[in-house]
Amino acid sequence: MILYCATTNPGKLREFQGAARSFGEGWDVRVLPGLKEIEPPEETAETFEENAILKARYYSKHTGELLFCDDSGLEVDALDGAPGVYSARYAGGHAGDGANNALLKSRMRGRENRAARFRCVVAIARAGQPLAAFHGVVEGLILDEERGSGGFGYDPLFHHPPFNCTLAEASAERKLTVSHRGQALGAMLRWLAARE
Ligand code: IMP
Repeated sequence: MILYCATTNPGKLREFQGAARSFGEGWDVRVLPGLKEIEPPEETAETFEENAILKARYYSKHTGELLFCDDSGLEVDALDGAPGVYSARYAGGHAGDGANNALLKSRMRGRENRAARFRCVVAIARAGQPLAAFHGVVEGLILDEERGSGGFGYDPLFHHPPFNCTLAEASAERKLTVSHRGQALGAMLRWLAARE
């Protein structure tokens, strides 16, 4: 069965498809056809949940199938929860992962409290109607320097103590077992299975 998602982030897409393979009962996660031609909505909300629902509502108007979107990001205690919902554009609208990580490192230099967490909310909708939202969170510590080359985004700076390594040093499969996205996706897939 096809389950559409609306993301242009290849790191997220890999994780969505990996999660569907690991714990989905026959769901085939695909990018919404024609996504690149659709003008993205402005992510104006102040919470991950509102942004995820806003995106799911908007993009699901372009298909009759079920569609989900996620909104996710990093909250750092020493930075009062920043970058939060601005995680993708922390160093500016078109900044990539490298610039975002460089800015995070500079803001964290010399700080003692390294506690941080990734949050993810996945929202599912059909034909413009939001149906449900699912949350995930994973705790960690922000390092001074990047470690590892897997994952995406802030993973190389995010040390996960139970793994004793960063999420960029863990395999994709292992990251999914603890990650905010793995939790939220798993909850959505269980919800879908229960609906049948
Ligand atoms: P958005 O959900 O597309 O608004 O952007 C989420 C941003 O948060 C990404 O571009 C990354 O910078 C960061 N992020 C979210 N999830 C992860 C993750 O699993 N690893 C590393 N960075 C992440």
